[in-house]
Amino acid sequence: MVERPVVLSERALKILSEPAGFDPGPTPKMPRTREVRPKKLPRQRKPKPVVVEVVPIPCVDCGELRALASTGIGKKRLSGHSDRCEVCADIDRFKATIADPTTKTHKVTRCRRSLQRVLRDGRAYHPDAPHGTINGYEMYGCRCEACRESKSAATAHYGRPLRSAREKVAA
Ligand SMILES: [Zn+2]
Ligand SMILES: [Zn+2]
Repeated sequence: MVERPVVLSERALKILSEPAGFDPGPTPKMPRTREVRPKKLPRQRKPKPVVVEVVPIPCVDCGELRALASTGIGKKRLSGHSDRCEVCADIDRFKATIADPTTKTHKVTRCRRSLQRVLRDGRAYHPDAPHGTINGYEMYGCRCEACRESKSAATAHYGRPLRSAREKVAA
């Protein structure tokens, strides 16, 4: 077997040429190449989102104050739509539905009843509704506290609990 000649590096040859006990002196310091990072500033806290408080404002049509309604997730919104209260908001829509000859009878009845509503404590209220029933909420469009409660109870009953109800359970 033929041994391969050992090829020494330049550095190895230099070391070998040095006399025993040779002190090469202190290793020259290499210049620092890594960038010195600036000290981390304390993390800035995110500013809390500004909660715009919803305040009751009057309806542009009837001038009555519109009450606040719950959104179901613990927040409040102004009842009604756009600039109008719950009673004034959909009047034109109800009238159009009644005027439409293709509208089914029970829907016409519902729209007629909706037009009979008045604003009470800022919410739509039907004077003849069977209050505290789902019928009062659905067929008379009544949004009094008793009717709203039966509606939310019914929604929870059908296995689609309102988020507010779930939150109550989790708390
Ligand atoms: Zn109004
Ligand atoms: Zn009611």
